[in-house]
Amino acid sequence: MSKTSPMPAHQSHCPLCNRDGRLAFDMPAAIYERRFSVHACDVCRIGYTYPFPSDNLLYEIYFGEYWARESALEKRGLLAWGVQTFNAYRLGIMIRPLVKKLTAGMTILDVGCGSGQLAVYLQSCGFKVEVNDIDAELLAEIETRHGIRGYCGDLAEIDFQHQYDAIIFNNVLEHLRAPLPIIESAAGLLKNDGLIFIEVPNWESTQLQVFKARWYHLAIPQHLYHFSPTGLDGIMQQYAMKRVWFSTFSPRTSAAGYAASLRPELQPVRLRQTWSKPKILLYLTLQLLALPLVGIESFLGKGAVVRAMYRKTTPV
Ligand SMILES: [Zn+2]
Repeated sequence: MSKTSPMPAHQSHCPLCNRDGRLAFDMPAAIYERRFSVHACDVCRIGYTYPFPSDNLLYEIYFGEYWARESALEKRGLLAWGVQTFNAYRLGIMIRPLVKKLTAGMTILDVGCGSGQLAVYLQSCGFKVEVNDIDAELLAEIETRHGIRGYCGDLAEIDFQHQYDAIIFNNVLEHLRAPLPIIESAAGLLKNDGLIFIEVPNWESTQLQVFKARWYHLAIPQHLYHFSPTGLDGIMQQYAMKRVWFSTFSPRTSAAGYAASLRPELQPVRLRQTWSKPKILLYLTLQLLALPLVGIESFLGKGAVVRAMYRKTTPV
């Protein structure tokens, strides 16, 4: 062990409730030359990355080639088009439970919209969609291409002009340093009876038990929190949000979890660097082979994600 990358101390406090946490496991190797471990809070029923990475390190990761920009993909031709179409199809299935509860013309805010693919899909379904992210350049590209209004920065600090029928956190909450104020802001931005739709990796999934530190969806150090179904319900209840729908299956990430955990070189961020056809084919084949396992884990409520919808309850 080198002096520059000591193992993190194993004494830590849960960043949500400040009680003592316990070590779940150490990451086997240094990541960006730093050592991380994953701790658990048995009261909040969550995991958390320890220590949290610095803002500088996160900036380095996110403002690299983290997202597949539409403008960059267009240069990649037919293969990229095929992959994007497949992704859009899976996003459509992912968000269908929310779409079924809404009617055309309703307003949606997609928080942490990334490439904007989900927002564009929802716009095509007839909704009035707006997006929020921390990357101003990405937001400008989405607005120019699709006329979707973007708000840059921290949700709690933006002066929104109106309330929304639905707010989406698609694989976003686990990235936030302080998710609670953001959820509180979102609850405040919702109309009465409005819906919050969330997908996060599942801390109590079979895949985590099998792969532990090697599980692709742990994504250390970008993922600071690791939520369980019960943990997320507890958090949402604090803001008068009642769960109305739930699944641990994700059409987009469940099977990918097996493929990219078994073969880390197949992780989407790496595939986008080379667009190697044999690797993309292997990635898709492994996902197909994983489907029976995905079916079983999801049936048992131990699937790779917590995908849940919450309704704002009116105070009595
Ligand atoms: Zn806690």
